[in-house]
Amino acid sequence: MDHIPSSLATLMPQLVTWRRELHAFPEGSFAEFHTADFIAGELTAAGIVVTRGIGGTGLVGTLATGAGPAIAIRADMDALEMDEANSFAHRSAHAGFMHGCGHDGHVMMLLGAALYLARTRRFKGTVQFVFQPAEEKGGGAEAMLKDGLFERFPVSAIYGAHNEPLLPVGEMAVVPGGDQRGAGRFVHPGLRPGRPRGPAPPGGGSDTGGS
Ligand SMILES: [Zn+2]
Repeated sequence: MDHIPSSLATLMPQLVTWRRELHAFPEGSFAEFHTADFIAGELTAAGIVVTRGIGGTGLVGTLATGAGPAIAIRADMDALEMDEANSFAHRSAHAGFMHGCGHDGHVMMLLGAALYLARTRRFKGTVQFVFQPAEEKGGGAEAMLKDGLFERFPVSAIYGAHNEPLLPVGEMAVVPGGDQRGAGRFVHPGLRPGRPRGPAPPGGGSDTGGS
């Protein structure tokens, strides 16, 4: 992964620590209390304004550098209701729950982006870091919308990501519109429905836009 800027790579030890701490305490949908506390603490430490209680345990971090466009980046933060059979030190300490879908990684990625942007501030505008509850059981995004997410934090675009273990380490794929949503249906006339996808084949696949 030598294409990652060195200024980002220096965050790696922090990111690994965060991910393991998050992995060790998974929480269920709409019960991400400890997780939300953790996120709020790290965002605040980075100098980012935090608004909590949006859609239950959901929260938004706001980083503004002055006049310019506003975008949102979103991560989900809940875990699966299952026991973890791993034996490594950061295995789940919360019986009956496991970050088996990788939302610990998603939270870490968004916290990492927040920390990087807060430190470098090489952009003009506003970034809203949206931490959404209840992706696994569904309803978390809807709860945030009902709490006025986009009225209170207006943006022109929102970006989300999901781990894709089928892709080689260091590779990512992009798909416009919706993807990876299995908990419910969201229909918008401006968005073409995506399809479940695998890794990008060599030369680029239609679902993923290439590698
Ligand atoms: Zn997931």
